[in-house]
Amino acid sequence: MINGHTQLFGIIGNPVEHSLSPAMHNAAFAELGMNGVYIPMRPADLAEGFRGLRSLGFIGVSVTVPFKVAIMEFLDAVDPVARNIGAVNTLLFERDGDHCRCTGYNTDWLGSNQALGEELQLAGATVLILGAGGAARAVGFGLIEAGASVFIANRTEAKGRALAAQLRCPFVPTDQLAELRADALINTTSVGMAPHADALPIRAELLPRFAVVMDIVYAPLTTRLLREAAACGCRTVDGLQMLQYQGAAQFSLWTGREAPHRVMRQALVSELRSRLP
Ligand code: NAP
Repeated sequence: MINGHTQLFGIIGNPVEHSLSPAMHNAAFAELGMNGVYIPMRPADLAEGFRGLRSLGFIGVSVTVPFKVAIMEFLDAVDPVARNIGAVNTLLFERDGDHCRCTGYNTDWLGSNQALGEELQLAGATVLILGAGGAARAVGFGLIEAGASVFIANRTEAKGRALAAQLRCPFVPTDQLAELRADALINTTSVGMAPHADALPIRAELLPRFAVVMDIVYAPLTTRLLREAAACGCRTVDGLQMLQYQGAAQFSLWTGREAPHRVMRQALVSELRSRLP
């Protein structure tokens, strides 16, 4: 029941209609009997939208593409980890009387570490990351924080080399991937995402050399990469695991409560299934 005491949460992005986060967070509020609501919002102007969140009393807001970097200039503080990654995906508004302070965090790296960490001890592990976009930055930074050794491969070599230099890790040209051995592979490219679900981000014959294969693409839930990897005997981690764990970290930050993981995962899966053919 929405009333005068309902606590406000949401997500800003453009587009934002496709986001699965409202289903996940609203299911968590319902499960814990909390009077909170989480809504998708597409600000026409980021500065005005941010002022609105502050003045309307929002407590927690997720930030998605294309605002993860641009939002930083409006914040009162940015968590040092988010500052290092160079992107914020979570806002926390704290109020004391008329005073409101907004801090930016990044939970994407926590989500990817927790997802992969269920299948592999990260400290000392070697991990090949495919991709060099925003998600690759957060995933790579998180793995290095956890003590893993990271390798980067990317279609556009210059972008891959730039990320590798920032993370102080090796870049592997595509034609040299066959020479690499690593414990895990993470696809952070958008290759394999519906409607191009037949695409593979790496040659299938290279998959048996990884013990674990994780895909952060979650539509479809079981990508072709994960199907081929499972057929090769690899342990697999789907993209909803990262989404769920980064959301759980947000939920705890905003509410101070342990996130109901099972319910959040169920909400994500059923929302995704309702949208895919
Ligand atoms: P981004 O910044 O646009 O980066 C896209 C990456 O994909 C780049 O490395 C790009 O390579 C590569 N790429 C795109 N099309 C390609 C193709 N046809 N062949 C080879 N490489 C290709 O996007 P992002 O924000 O990092 O997101 C990437 C994916 O991760 C999206 O599918 C997004 O939905 C997903 N994601 C999932 C989660 C989660 O929680 N599960 C979180 C964040 C993002 P170039 O440099 O060569 O262009």
